[in-house]
Amino acid sequence: MRLLVTGGCGFIGSNYIQYLFRNDDSVVVVNLDKLTYAGNPLNLKNIEDQHGGTRYFFEKADIADPVEVRRIIEEHGIEAVVNFAAETHVDRSINDPAPFVTTNVLGTQNLLTTARALGIERFVHVSTDEVYGDLGPADPRFTEQTPLKPSSPYSASKAAADMLAYAFYRTYGYPVCITRCSNNYGPYQFPEKLIPLMFKLASSNSPLPVYGDGSNIRDWIHVDDHCHGVHLTLLKGIPGKAYNFGGNAERTNMEVVRAILSLLGKPESLISYVKDRPGHDRRYAMDYSLAQKELGYEPAYTFERGIAETIAWYQANGEWLESVESGAYREFMQKWYGDR
Ligand code: NAD
Repeated sequence: MRLLVTGGCGFIGSNYIQYLFRNDDSVVVVNLDKLTYAGNPLNLKNIEDQHGGTRYFFEKADIADPVEVRRIIEEHGIEAVVNFAAETHVDRSINDPAPFVTTNVLGTQNLLTTARALGIERFVHVSTDEVYGDLGPADPRFTEQTPLKPSSPYSASKAAADMLAYAFYRTYGYPVCITRCSNNYGPYQFPEKLIPLMFKLASSNSPLPVYGDGSNIRDWIHVDDHCHGVHLTLLKGIPGKAYNFGGNAERTNMEVVRAILSLLGKPESLISYVKDRPGHDRRYAMDYSLAQKELGYEPAYTFERGIAETIAWYQANGEWLESVESGAYREFMQKWYGDR
């Protein structure tokens, strides 16, 4: 299959490309990424070294650019699209919603329009549990029937993109599937997100800022389980359907922070409470029984195994973390992709 993966230099997109090359000897991947602050080509250095120019191609482009998206799909003979590209950080969306609307809404609309015009018959749009809003402590988990009720500019822009995907199916019969997943963790996550941020701070004995009282609950999923779910959707998803994916691991932020401190042998006195994020969702939890039934999805990781492996990965890959922070990866990027 000749696959266009957008946002492939980000956390989940790069893990998905690693997953593809581990599991499929014939796949050809074109990675379309704008290389925002969150895109890091170093995540795929092994793939670039081994398969660059034969089975792996990088295209620096914006999903909202109709001319570039058309050119890339045509030039590479693309057969399917998986759309990970997005602005993803809730706090940044609170500061400035504009890039979230441009990329997440207009970018998705452009991808859908262009892929449909060029007759691409498989399209997976990657979305999030945050489109459902939040849950009270005793509420049942989100199903695909839960109404969309986003809380932040980020989740509102993702919900708008989901609605466009549904509309393309209903209006044009375009065979798009949507995946909605809970909070991911694993290798290559940009250190503004909870787990790598807490790892980084705890490693240098700095205070760990925890929002509010730390009781917000997320349903944590290892990124490999999410990638597996996305791939099953690409292969077997029923057009027009959304599929939830979760890790069956509801944990409070405080439990996650304590687990990291314990794995690093650091004291809990490092925890420092900070003013809560405005509109902070209390709890997310995913019912993924539809994906179990229709796709044969099952998460392979327990949270305990996943978090231990993830912390071990960050410990073994201090160079990666440093390069992200020092901007060294931007030099690498300029060297590899500057003139393309
Ligand atoms: P990320 O921020 O790590 O990566 C996003 C990638 O998209 C980056 O490489 C960036 O350069 C690229 N990008 C941004 N704007 C672009 C544009 N206009 N054109 C082309 N590329 C662009 O994000 P992530 O955490 O890997 O999330 C990937 C997808 O998964 C997103 O759609 C997100 O909403 C969804 N998701 C994430 C989580 C999570 O826990 N991280 C959970 C559920 C769903």
